[in-house]
Formats: sequence, C-alpha cells, structure tokens
Amino acid sequence: MSNSVLPGDKIAVIEEYEAGNNACDDGHIVRATVIGESEIDRKERIVNVKNQNTTSIPEKGDIVIGTVEAVMGSMIAVMINYINSKPVKAQVECICATRSIRKKNVALVKDLVKLKIIGHLNGAIHATMQDPELGVLFTKCRKCGMDVKPLRDIVKCVECGWTDDRKLSSDFLKTDFLKVRE
Ligand SMILES: [Zn+2]
Repeated sequence: MSNSVLPGDKIAVIEEYEAGNNACDDGHIVRATVIGESEIDRKERIVNVKNQNTTSIPEKGDIVIGTVEAVMGSMIAVMINYINSKPVKAQVECICATRSIRKKNVALVKDLVKLKIIGHLNGAIHATMQDPELGVLFTKCRKCGMDVKPLRDIVKCVECGWTDDRKLSSDFLKTDFLKVRE
C-alpha cells in the first residue's frame, strides 16, 4: 500500500503504526515530514515515507564523500558530493564529530573526506570518520597549498616540506576512490 503524501500529512495514528523514515508523531498522529510515498510496514508496525529524492538524503550506514566546508573545534561540516559512490546535486551538509580523533588537524577546509552516516539528529545529518577507510581522501599543504604525500600516519608537503597530520582514509590519494565501494 502506498500513497502520495506532503509534509504534514496524516499517515497513521500511533495506536496503529509508529513513525518510521521521514515521519514523525506528535504523540497521537503520525505525519509525513517530506514529499513522497507513504508505505506501511505491517510486520514492523511502522509507516515510512519514501522520499522521491532518496539519493540526495543519506541514511544511516551510507558512505558519503564530500568537501569540508568548515572546521570547528570539535566537529567539521561537510557538503556531500557523493552518496554510496553516486553523485548528488542537492546541497546537503552533514556534520562529523572530531573530538575523539587524536589529530591536530583532522581535516582542513576544502579537503575531500569520506564519512559514514550515523543518523539524523535535530535536523542535522551526523557522520563519523572513525573507521580506517574513512577520513581525508585529498588534502593540500596548510602552509603553501601544494600537494602532500603520506609519510606513515602524517602528510608531508612535496614543495615546502611542511609536515602535518590528518585523519587519513586508507583510500588517501587513490584516484579511483569512487570505485572502491561499489
Ligand atoms: Zn607546503
């Protein structure tokens, strides 16, 4: 069973079904939060809304590649360019906590990073870079802006010799990084 719904549309009452993906409840009524198709899962007793643009909103467990937009004290903001190796056009940002990563410069603005989505919270998409394959895919020297080469777990500038640290992905500098996880 599936129906076209708009954000705010009533799709169930919580006595019948719980809010699933792209749905929320106010303690009584389950409503859609996006434009899409409502789908009732009778086995799990939940009602989901399948977003019409599912490829632009990553879900938990998705691997995303994006460009670092801002570096804050304990997190980075990343504009998502690819979800599970598929390019996305929509401007979707996610944030990644970096507090637990023991690096001075986890990533710099404009770096290309690979992250795993851990979920949606308070309207923001949260990601992690804890796994070995996650982290910086491409970066530049912080001093002169030239290319860097990995040197064990740090990076060294090919031009000025400046050494720095990053949370490097195991795919760092692999030009075919998009094919790594098909
Ligand atoms: Zn340099």
